[in-house]
Amino acid sequence: MTFYKEKTVRIFNSEKRLYFSFLIDTKNKQVCYTIVMNKQDKERMAGYLLAWYDANKRILPWRENPTPYAVWVSEIMLQQTRVEAVKPYFHRFMQQLPDIQSLATCDDDQLAKLWEGLGYYHRVRNMKKCAITCVEKYNGQLPSTYEELLTLPGIGAYTAGAIASIAFKQKVPAVDGNVLRVFSRILCSEDDIGKETTKKKFQSIIQTYLPSRVDAYNQALMEIGAMICVPNTRPHCDRCPLATLCKAHQKNKEMQYPIKQSKKARKIEQKTIAVVLFQNHVHLHQRDAKGLLANLYEFDTFEGHLTKQSLLKQLKPIGNITSILPLQDSKHIFTHKEWHMKGWLVLLDHASQTGLWATQKELLETYAIPSALRIYKQACLIAMEEDIMYE
Ligand code: SF4
Repeated sequence: MTFYKEKTVRIFNSEKRLYFSFLIDTKNKQVCYTIVMNKQDKERMAGYLLAWYDANKRILPWRENPTPYAVWVSEIMLQQTRVEAVKPYFHRFMQQLPDIQSLATCDDDQLAKLWEGLGYYHRVRNMKKCAITCVEKYNGQLPSTYEELLTLPGIGAYTAGAIASIAFKQKVPAVDGNVLRVFSRILCSEDDIGKETTKKKFQSIIQTYLPSRVDAYNQALMEIGAMICVPNTRPHCDRCPLATLCKAHQKNKEMQYPIKQSKKARKIEQKTIAVVLFQNHVHLHQRDAKGLLANLYEFDTFEGHLTKQSLLKQLKPIGNITSILPLQDSKHIFTHKEWHMKGWLVLLDHASQTGLWATQKELLETYAIPSALRIYKQACLIAMEEDIMYE
């Protein structure tokens, strides 16, 4: 899996055996990490974690029957999204697309609509690609090994580890941001967890900790990271089953770990959003098939913050404008950029342009609008509900 290997050295003294483990970088042939926990402590850690998990694990829909498909769907949804927000999406998705075959043949608009509001739409597009590959190569099932899972579209080391360990009980780690944070604190690691090399190193380290109940162990670590060893605030060490083994806690340095270099500042883009209504239909455009928010639908959108006069000029070809009302400003943060938006509600009594004019029902059930435009979609639905033009 990586270029790292663990080597354990046993030293005897008069009373007991001591173990020291080193992580060897086999490419550069040097010791790159001293693992501070010996074999007995690793076993104690597994015992504490599993006992805590058995007593405290949350009841979650994807844990009731952890089929490979259910584990996969939930793990992809849970990336960058809170558990509570994912639950209704998971239910709806599993009802409408209960297996890999139905996902592989699903209409793109239906798929985007099922994902509407979760963001990071490339995830669900990759899921469909992955499902098609599974139908073609694996008889409509997900393959059962970490190595094979890793070759599929949209499945990285973490997701492959989660599916392989939770659904197939393969002894592999599943290292996400939560797990990195927990281990970084336990070991007082000085490695930057934002780096890919650190993730690989931690995967190798955690591989040496795994007990036979690997499914529960990996989920326990994720759960500790989500509920106890929380980010950006003081962790709840008083409730943590790993407190007696945790170096950061022993040194009262929990808040100094994990080490993470600050990211580059996000690019700010100004946009003007015009929600254009004619006879209770809203004007929509489908975005390009490539790039940010690919294939999703949006309102008339212009670069920059246009004045009312410039917007009226831009919208002239669309029809005869009877009124134009300012909407709330809004901001949306993507991974590498921010949209700072000014919105307008625009009413027409004559439309010169054809294109896509959606009804309220279609806006709700057919066309997926990105979360970035949530406020403007809401304003549009309210205006349509009240049919404000023709009252
Ligand atoms: S003792 Fe505190 S810092 Fe250490 S793993 Fe537990 S919650 Fe995190």
